[in-house]
Amino acid sequence: MQTIDILFLNAHVLTMDDKMNQYNRGAVAVNGDSIVAIGAEDELKKEYAMRAKETIDCKGKILMPGMVNAHTHVPMTLLRGIADDLRLDVWLQGYMWPVEREFASPEFVRLGTSIACGELIRSGVTTFNDMYFYEDDVATATAQAGMRGVCGQSILKFPTPDAASYEDAMEKARDYIKKWKGHPLIIPSIAPHAPYTTTPQILRETADLAKEFDVPLHIHIAETSFEVENMRNENGMPVIPYVRKQGLFEAKVIAAHCVHIDMGEIRTLHHAGAGVSHNPSSNLKLASGFAPVVKMLEAGVNVGIGTDGPASNNDLDMFEEVRLAAFVAKAVTNDPTSLPASQALLMATRIGAQALHIGHLTGSLTPGRRADLILVDLSPLHNSPSFRRSSDNAYAQIVYASKSTDVTDLMVNGKWLMRDRKLLTVNEDELLAEAADIAKKIDSFLVEREQSILSKLIALGGSSEEESFEVQIKVRIAEADPVIQALMRNDIDIIYERHYRQHDIYFFFEDESQGCLRYREDDFMDSVKGIPTKTRSRLTLLGRKQEGKFEHEILLSRSRFLAPATNSPRFYREYFIPKTEMIIEKDRLRWFIKYKDTEFYVNLDKVTMPAIGYFLEVKSRTWSRKDAENKAQLLNELLEVLDASKGETVTNDYIDIIGKQ
Ligand SMILES: [Zn+2]
Repeated sequence: MQTIDILFLNAHVLTMDDKMNQYNRGAVAVNGDSIVAIGAEDELKKEYAMRAKETIDCKGKILMPGMVNAHTHVPMTLLRGIADDLRLDVWLQGYMWPVEREFASPEFVRLGTSIACGELIRSGVTTFNDMYFYEDDVATATAQAGMRGVCGQSILKFPTPDAASYEDAMEKARDYIKKWKGHPLIIPSIAPHAPYTTTPQILRETADLAKEFDVPLHIHIAETSFEVENMRNENGMPVIPYVRKQGLFEAKVIAAHCVHIDMGEIRTLHHAGAGVSHNPSSNLKLASGFAPVVKMLEAGVNVGIGTDGPASNNDLDMFEEVRLAAFVAKAVTNDPTSLPASQALLMATRIGAQALHIGHLTGSLTPGRRADLILVDLSPLHNSPSFRRSSDNAYAQIVYASKSTDVTDLMVNGKWLMRDRKLLTVNEDELLAEAADIAKKIDSFLVEREQSILSKLIALGGSSEEESFEVQIKVRIAEADPVIQALMRNDIDIIYERHYRQHDIYFFFEDESQGCLRYREDDFMDSVKGIPTKTRSRLTLLGRKQEGKFEHEILLSRSRFLAPATNSPRFYREYFIPKTEMIIEKDRLRWFIKYKDTEFYVNLDKVTMPAIGYFLEVKSRTWSRKDAENKAQLLNELLEVLDASKGETVTNDYIDIIGKQ
């Protein structure tokens, strides 16, 4: 007689299978890593009681498949609570990325993952779908904890904590997938972060890699309306047609969020067999909007439920997430019959597993599937009493009344990870101590960074210090024509001429010694048509201090920090939190000239907002102070040549003039 390992008896079994079979006094037989049989207790007893090595009395608890967390970033447990109540871009670029650049390492990732596994096991999750850096270490820690994980190695177009370039990242991803492919618990995958953080080439290549190894491809799609708006502006189409164009859907896609998509895009997802992760807490907290969950389900798309990373949720509690998914769907459709409890729970189990393309392995209690299951205690007061008139009562009880803390036992792949609320594969005390240690270090890193505008600017990446000396003078003039005439002289050699409109926003801070931050948009004007041809945005931190003054109020300044402004003024306002700001607009004619073998910039500005008239600015850049002094002499001469020496000298900048008025 063939033996089996465990026979579960006296359970209320929710199979979550194709027929939604329920057994109020049910039993489940498990052998090795798989489920052998499910059914009414008396029937299974007859069949298996004599050959079970162990019989477990479930004492009337719910026995159901473990939950599937369809989208998360598990190592980010270590970043939870760092920065909250911010917009997605400020949160991500201002806080998450800089901290990750500084701290993310294989050790960091293993620790964060182990903590997440403990939390996930406690809340009844047996499988999760991850995306992060050092995914090999995420997979290692996940396998150690005994959980099932679809672990996606992130690919971005810029350098990441674990890869200097995307080519480097692709190579690592290939090795990583090769290493883990076929593991009993880990399904390796590739994760191009999002369309806006990758390139068409990256999307193409990651899809090819996923196809080559037959592994899932995990990506963020249409999370914010801002993302969709940018995509339309830049590529003339919404996000899903764009990724389809790059061949993404040739792979087994898991698309996280899909908040801002239309019916056509939903049909594309369905047609492509893509899975979706709906992340209600994250979408609510970041005010991303409401995903068309009911429409997606109606169209036949496999929509699972995910917590998203614990830094944007801030927990990994799937009980809370399922409940929210049901509630939000009702509120958004204005229909309380939308997304009933049974369907919400299905999204968190079988449909979730299908969305991850592993429905053949887990997600329901079905003979042949892996033994990934949980026991839920319905005896606490908040769960009482229990009604069994309708089969829906049990689903409603789990979704609307139960809490994750009601999960008492959890098994993955036939192995216990939690018994009677005791974690068996994760050492909580050790993890707590290590997490406190890291938190202290991150805290002091951020405290230091937040002290200066400069370090906050550098934290965004891409900025560079310009250590040049600059001699400059600014003179107020009555009219522009005499200067333009003077520039035609033979002893002035015009190298090039430009015309642009400048829109400047100056941000000022409580502490004036920090200098001020200028957000500048240059619209380059077509000299013939007089319309803007291209725009360049830059961010400059201007020190208020000058190195020195020369005769005729010529200034010598030094050291400015420059960065391309890749974000909107709104982003910088929310990130730097200035005390006040000022807008200055001007029409600028710029000549780059050679005068007595020395190169100068001549700027003729008409300040239009506020309307304060014409200014002439002459400056030259150099690398040494000595050279600057020589040029200052020459600049005096040039000023007379330009007939501007009679003008009123402006000591500092437009800010000062406007400030005085
Ligand atoms: Zn995410």
